[in-house]
Amino acid sequence: ADIDFTAQTTIVTGASSGIGAAFARALAKRGSDVILVARRLDRLRELANELERDHGVRATPIALDLSRRGAGQALAGEVAARGLTVTGLVNNAGFGTDGPFHEEDPDRLQDEIAVDVANLVDISRAFIEPLRQEGRGILVNVASVAAYAPSPDMAVYAACKAFVLSFTEALWFESRSSGLRVLSLAPGLTRTEFFDDLSGGAYNGSYQTPEQVVETGMRSLDRGNRRPSIVSGRGNALAAGLGRFFTRR
Ligand code: NDP
Repeated sequence: ADIDFTAQTTIVTGASSGIGAAFARALAKRGSDVILVARRLDRLRELANELERDHGVRATPIALDLSRRGAGQALAGEVAARGLTVTGLVNNAGFGTDGPFHEEDPDRLQDEIAVDVANLVDISRAFIEPLRQEGRGILVNVASVAAYAPSPDMAVYAACKAFVLSFTEALWFESRSSGLRVLSLAPGLTRTEFFDDLSGGAYNGSYQTPEQVVETGMRSLDRGNRRPSIVSGRGNALAAGLGRFFTRR
């Protein structure tokens, strides 16, 4: 049976654009209240207004820089201050750096690890007990096809996403008796602002939409969450030749 999201409250990190915004829309459409997290508060406010207007849910924007240490406690504090009970979490915020490892900026690599891994763990830890107790929501961690096919010039990004895969698979086992549905969702190439940051060569092939990624994840969860991980758009990623795409010419 499909998950009943009414009377749920789901946190979505990285909700200010791309896959995160699509997730927030899909959840709100199905009746979940949402907590929208990212740095760009103006974007979060705009989306929150849209979701409250279109779907009649409560949407709460919270500005947070997830490259800073201790995001879990910070977010838990903000949530508690608003008297909200969290039943679901989508750890989607993330970004990639590219370039040969020996040329990458060390500070930027640390930020990448903080957003893609360290604070994903910290936020998961901060909310895992209520999530398990509620036992009716979702914990989705957004990985990447890069986790399965580490490409040259994205060594740290690929490794961060491989961490997300293993971490999530373990939590999937731990959560089987709790009712919480745990999934790592690995998108192939998806048209978002993700590529604005990259210096790699242009890619002129096809992208999937953020909505397609979210649909794939939600379908897997609705169908009973029998697998710990799912890929969305494997075909397009392979067609693009991940390695070649990310290799600078
Ligand atoms: P976008 O760049 O469109 O979205 C990234 C989101 O992460 C934004 O909302 C951004 O918000 C947030 N974010 C980034 N850095 C921080 C930070 N320091 N603090 C708080 N929030 C932050 O890209 P996507 O939607 O594509 O990316 C979403 C996820 O999907 C990422 O984890 C990415 O690795 C993954 N992915 C994407 C693929 C693609 O082809 N697009 C393929 C595979 C995986 P703000 O800037 O407002 O802080």
